[in-house]
Amino acid sequence: MKEILLIKNGEIALKGQNRSQFEDALVRLLKKRLADLGPATMRKAQSTITVEPLSEDYDFDEALSRVGRVFGIAGYSRAAVCEKSMDDLCTRGVEWLRPLLAGARTFKVESKRADKAFPLTSPEISRELGGAILSACPRLKVDVHDPDVTVVAEVREGGIYLRAGQLPGAGGMPTGTGGRAAVLLSGGIDSPVAAWMMAKRGIELYAVHFASPPYTGPLAERKVIDLLARVSLWTGPVTLAIVPFTAIQEEIRDRVPEEYFTLVMRRFMMKIASRLAAEKGCGALITGESVGQVASQTLAALQVTDRASDLLVLRPLIGMDKEEIVRIARRIDTFETSILPYEDCCTVFTPRHPRTRPTEEAVLAAQRDLDEEGLIAAALDGVRTLRIGDNDQEV
Ligand code: ATP
Ligand code: MG
Repeated sequence: MKEILLIKNGEIALKGQNRSQFEDALVRLLKKRLADLGPATMRKAQSTITVEPLSEDYDFDEALSRVGRVFGIAGYSRAAVCEKSMDDLCTRGVEWLRPLLAGARTFKVESKRADKAFPLTSPEISRELGGAILSACPRLKVDVHDPDVTVVAEVREGGIYLRAGQLPGAGGMPTGTGGRAAVLLSGGIDSPVAAWMMAKRGIELYAVHFASPPYTGPLAERKVIDLLARVSLWTGPVTLAIVPFTAIQEEIRDRVPEEYFTLVMRRFMMKIASRLAAEKGCGALITGESVGQVASQTLAALQVTDRASDLLVLRPLIGMDKEEIVRIARRIDTFETSILPYEDCCTVFTPRHPRTRPTEEAVLAAQRDLDEEGLIAAALDGVRTLRIGDNDQEV
């Protein structure tokens, strides 16, 4: 029996005139993501993309797991392609379905007739196929309201696509259709989740990490690379800029009143990230901040941080509780890596009594002994760039 992957577009189905642009982007992403699994023909029609492998030994399980991490998809399944006859559907089709129904007690059949030339109506197809399933699996019962499995038969140009249920897709918009943004990526729990959430809205990521060797070690850097590699399973390869931050932090430690350490440091991060972002054509910065989580995330502190950069700053976690953030971190499999105990540059010089209600004037006064431009230029000079999710090469 010929088998295919059946992929249902998500929100892009709602895009009026631009719809085909979004669909093309999704097809391109799928082609890239599935390329090394072997040759396959991809077609799009009526909010559906089909992937038809050209080899017998196609790894469907791997393909399904990858498709589940492509944004822009509402649902996906492995499907059989029957000939366009009730005979084939009710014999070979039902045989194909049988193992998929093994664990179920109840089912229903839904039919769609995209090809109006087919002689039976949708309700007639459902009735006849349902009857054939009941004869083949007598312990099953029909439940049209809350079935264990919904069998779907779609009559299309190339045949009848038959499937048992479908897996929920990752949702969102295809990566790249929402422009590009620079995410400030620490080794913590929050920023990888923030990165993933904005990628889900179609944004292509560029990542910036600030490292302070020898206060932060190679394992801390490895951790950030690992986190980004996990995010890149959803987005495709991501460029990571590693910014040397030691000199800046030492200057702050030596020349800034302690209660302003964190804010001055955060503003340096925003400024440096903005410069890198502008070079890379990014329209925004992304951070993992959430109101009230730490002293540098009060409204006043966030505003002072915000003012360091002219770029739009996206903070997708702003109204979320830690517990909600952790739930997403677990789902995208970054949590266990995030909690590894390596120092982040933020934790190296943590003030004992940080300012929670700062003003910009006070912060500027606190850093008046720093050569801001010189420090930023030196840091930018030392940036290293890696491509993550693509054998993590240095570029
Ligand atoms: P996270 O869990 O993401 O580290 P956090 O709650 O620990 O966040 P902070 O340490 O105050 O918060 O950092 C706030 C945000 O600043 C982070 O979410 C991240 O976007 C950015 N950030 C912090 N440290 C770094 C770093 N070393 N490199 C790049 N970005 C950073
Ligand atoms: Mg942190």
